[in-house]
Amino acid sequence: MGHMLGDTVMDILVRSHRMRGDATVWVPGLDHAGLATQVEVRRRLAKQGVRFEELPREEALHEIAEWKEEHERRIREQTRAGGFTVDWGRYRYTMDPESTRATREAFVRLHADGLIYRGERMVNWDPRLKTAISDLEVVHTEEEGELYYLRYPWADGSPGGLEVATVRPETIFGDVAVAVHPSDDRYRPFLGREVVVPLTDRRVPVIEDAAIDPAFGAGALKVTPRHDTVDHEIFLRHPSLPMPPDILDDSGHLTSDWVPAAYRGLDRDEARTRTLKDLADSGLLLRREPYRHSVARSERSETVIEPRLSTQWFVRMRSLATPVADAVRRGEIRIHPARWEREFDRWLEGIQDWCISRQVLWGHRIPVYHCRVCHREIAAVEPPMVCDQCRSPDLEEDPDVLDTWFTSWLWPFLTLGWPERTADLEHYYPTNVLVTGRDIMFFWVARMMMAGYYFRNARPFSDVYFTGMIRDEQGRRMSKHLGNSPDPLDVIHERGADAMRFSLVFPSPADEDGPFGASALDGGRNFLTKVWNLVRFTLSFVPAGTPPPTGPPTRSAEGTLVNRWILSRYRHAAEEVDRALGEYRITAAATTLYDFLWHDLADRYVEIAKEALSGRRGEPAQREARETLLFVVERSLRLLHPFVPHVTEELWHALPHPDTLLALAPWPRVDEAPSDPVAEVEMEPVLETIRLLRNLRSEEKVPLEANPKAWVRPTGSEAARVLRAERATIVRLVRLGSLDFLADQEEVPPRTGRRVAVFGECFLERPVASGATAEALGREREKLVALLEKTRARLADPGFHDRAPHDVVRETEEKATELAERVRRIDEHLKEDSASGGTPP
Ligand SMILES: [Zn+2]
Repeated sequence: MGHMLGDTVMDILVRSHRMRGDATVWVPGLDHAGLATQVEVRRRLAKQGVRFEELPREEALHEIAEWKEEHERRIREQTRAGGFTVDWGRYRYTMDPESTRATREAFVRLHADGLIYRGERMVNWDPRLKTAISDLEVVHTEEEGELYYLRYPWADGSPGGLEVATVRPETIFGDVAVAVHPSDDRYRPFLGREVVVPLTDRRVPVIEDAAIDPAFGAGALKVTPRHDTVDHEIFLRHPSLPMPPDILDDSGHLTSDWVPAAYRGLDRDEARTRTLKDLADSGLLLRREPYRHSVARSERSETVIEPRLSTQWFVRMRSLATPVADAVRRGEIRIHPARWEREFDRWLEGIQDWCISRQVLWGHRIPVYHCRVCHREIAAVEPPMVCDQCRSPDLEEDPDVLDTWFTSWLWPFLTLGWPERTADLEHYYPTNVLVTGRDIMFFWVARMMMAGYYFRNARPFSDVYFTGMIRDEQGRRMSKHLGNSPDPLDVIHERGADAMRFSLVFPSPADEDGPFGASALDGGRNFLTKVWNLVRFTLSFVPAGTPPPTGPPTRSAEGTLVNRWILSRYRHAAEEVDRALGEYRITAAATTLYDFLWHDLADRYVEIAKEALSGRRGEPAQREARETLLFVVERSLRLLHPFVPHVTEELWHALPHPDTLLALAPWPRVDEAPSDPVAEVEMEPVLETIRLLRNLRSEEKVPLEANPKAWVRPTGSEAARVLRAERATIVRLVRLGSLDFLADQEEVPPRTGRRVAVFGECFLERPVASGATAEALGREREKLVALLEKTRARLADPGFHDRAPHDVVRETEEKATELAERVRRIDEHLKEDSASGGTPP
């Protein structure tokens, strides 16, 4: 569903620009998602009882290729079903031959410029998937664990020893020192002495380092340089310490000479149990304490990450990041919504080198060849036959593959033909807009910008739009894991592509984390039904042979107020849609169209104009109303088209239309329809009077078939003039018996309900309560009073004020006020009725 949201936003932008006559190109594509894909295939095979790691290389690759085919087909099917106007002729895949070539080319250029290096660095090692993964693929969570206090005995045999706290006792075999803080007086006398690593006979020195937190545990820390980032940094500051061997192999099992034979081959969990037992038996485990701490887990396999010193390929990021940070600060690349700019900037500030090698099968091989004779390292687009230094043919291809993002970050120019100088590349690069989820802001978006400036010396796009993360109706993130993300094809099959598209951008903002589900889809469908009915209604007044509207009708001298009003409302809606789309406020544009079409056009205008449309006000009035309606409906369908292309295309063809597709019809010019502030101001009292009198009708329980009398006391002559002019409309829409105007001092008729507005006061005749009605009112009053007392009691409870959220308290207060008002109105009603001879309750 996240892809559907992104695609919907992109399609809205692309379709609206295409209608404006802009040259649009939307390149569809797929990435091979190296590690993610391999994890999924591994999982699927495990269900069939097959271990991925045990498959021969060719068979494993075949399984992955098959999985990719299935999913590619499905993704393409979803894109088609959603009605997204991508350019299928330009479809690209990160492992097609051109992408492979471009990926190798990019590697070789960066390597030649010294921006790619191979080095031993601490990496996040996933022992289950047996690969390094990037910092971005690591999830940190607070977890309950234990802190173990161990005694490291003095090497000279004196009693006691140093107390060292650790959460990972199984790594003691990789220790090279015990470190304390230089200003920690407790330990100063011991500096330079030696202790024995428990369960071994290896001696290590007591050293000082400022990285030690004296408040953690007992203030002394074991130093295990190959398996902890901080320890590795301490190690680098103390050149006299020996580099230990790797004591954990790539699957997390204890290994090497430094590990006593009894523990070799145990996995890290077994090793912990075993060392703790032996430490306890030998009196070296002093105590254990519950300890809540941050644990790093692999996003893909959920296993605990093993920090590990390992030889990997890296991209130097600092110099690549600088032009990007500048471009965003200068506004050369704009981020929407702008609130993400700060986080983006902060990440660039603290950027680390990018580990691009992966120890997986699925991906582009690193284009580096090692000479077995002279040990030269050759990076080359085409595999070399011989070493370019010693001419030996004995070359070995690097066994690792590249991170998938190493291809994806080239996407904006790779898809246009780079490294060839194609016409597409010249014409479309730099591109305009990238739409994506903010979860890949750093994986992808930031890196595309870096690649753009580095390889093309120009921004890859001028605007980035981040969609929100879709949640389910209970507010949970949608995920494969929870199984709460519906298949878009099912949603489209059940609800239609347009209902899905509209509900993804309305009413929850497309750029916020909003809920998606049945109620949003119902809302989308109801809106489309409303539009459908509006067009059918319009069609019933359009005689055969009516030409397509070329503009708004020319107005007669005394053009009807409501026609002037709807044209002006349309003008403002069109302006706001233009402005909102231009500012990447997608949901604001959808909301404007929703409100205009539903409330102004379908509800207010159509109801008022019905009389004129039916011909009961004469031929000129009928023609003006018909032309106004046809124009506004036809143009509104154009504005709505990018959001819901299927239903609008269908409806547009039912109306008089030019010989083309709506998708290719011109976008409406906003200045076509006149802005008419006078008409808008004049319509206000009319619409308000209708609304207030209708509310009074329902509150006073006026029977449906009754036509009560009503009065208005306008404030000022302007309101009076307009209301008198539109009296017939008000009478018809509220189904009144009569509507009269009261002068300033004129007495209000008895037994009336009253409402006050800016333009004056409205009064509506109340029905005389019959015995039965009075009884019903009495019963309703009892119920309301009970509810009111309960609500007031709740508000009087100090505990409620303290604990309940602010909104809930406010809502409860509003409810109490409203209940009191309803009780008061019933009392008034009953009193007036009994005074005028009605039956008392
Ligand atoms: Zn060589």
